[in-house]
Amino acid sequence: MPKGKILVTRSLPGKALDRLREAGYQVEVHEGLFLPREDLLKRVEGAIGLIPTVEDRIDAEVMDRAPGLKVIACYSVGVDHVDLEAARERGIRVTHTPGVLTEATADLTLALLLAVARRVVEGAAYARDGLWKAWHPELLLGMDLQGATLGIVGMGRIGQAVAQRAEAFGMKVVYTSRAPKPLPYPHLSLEELLATSDIVSLHTPLTPETHRLMNRERLFAMRPGSILINTARGGLVDTEALVEALKGHLFGAGLDVTDPEPLPPGHPLYTLPNAVITPHIGSAGRRTREHMAEIAVENLLFALEGREPPNPVV
Ligand code: NAP
Repeated sequence: MPKGKILVTRSLPGKALDRLREAGYQVEVHEGLFLPREDLLKRVEGAIGLIPTVEDRIDAEVMDRAPGLKVIACYSVGVDHVDLEAARERGIRVTHTPGVLTEATADLTLALLLAVARRVVEGAAYARDGLWKAWHPELLLGMDLQGATLGIVGMGRIGQAVAQRAEAFGMKVVYTSRAPKPLPYPHLSLEELLATSDIVSLHTPLTPETHRLMNRERLFAMRPGSILINTARGGLVDTEALVEALKGHLFGAGLDVTDPEPLPPGHPLYTLPNAVITPHIGSAGRRTREHMAEIAVENLLFALEGREPPNPVV
């Protein structure tokens, strides 16, 4: 007799789910690329545990379909897709996977930063499209990183890992967070940071306080010819205003996350050569993603066994 049903909303890399099966749980995995809302509402029925991805909106309606639900073990560090208050009211534990994805996400942040600053994607398309006929001193000029100022918004785990990497490239680092941290970088207000940074990189969680943090006014308060990088959450940026800012004010943008997400085909951002967009792959290193699955499963098992999970949010 299985101990109870665990719904996993996507297949996960590695063997972490075997641990749940071995522990006697009935593991139901949705195998598709995307789980439609109606299917989520149906499949969650009878579940005592849920492992959702960032794309599944886990709100009161979902929770009420599974009155026996004890734990939502997020396969992410960000928890903005879960209604935490609704979980709290129902006594459902919520956990996440902090730390394990810090380095992979910082790596992708640098990948986007380099790609935008040095016009790597434009250059690759130029060569592949047969336009490379000669070397020219003014061909595809970009931003020099040595000596450039990188402004980090949200100096947590990922922000600090990005700062370390930026130092290796000779960049000056400044940051803003709600409280200054014991770090060897100047702590500025957001307004000061925008006025002084050549590159602004976003690393705060998405909360009601940070929603549209980069609104039209702040995007245009960035230095002319500067770069915006967002590997945190799409909701931090006013997309429509960003499109405008990219048509002259900014040098470019590197976005791993967008609003809306996924960014639909034909969206104006895709038409801009100075926007480099990746499909939310910040933590997508194989080892990292396997490790995230192990941590999500560990959190889930602890919560189901009535023990304090290693990475609690609620
Ligand atoms: P973290 O360690 O909690 O860092 C977040 C930082 O943001 C904290 O240091 C916090 O500092 C700061 N912060 C919060 N509210 C702020 C505000 N209003 N203004 C300025 N700073 C603020 O989290 P993390 O592990 O670095 O992850 C950060 C975010 O990255 C996650 O929440 C997630 O959404 C995103 N992420 C994306 C990917 C991806 O695939 N692209 C992968 C991993 C994570 P204070 O408390 O001092 O303000």
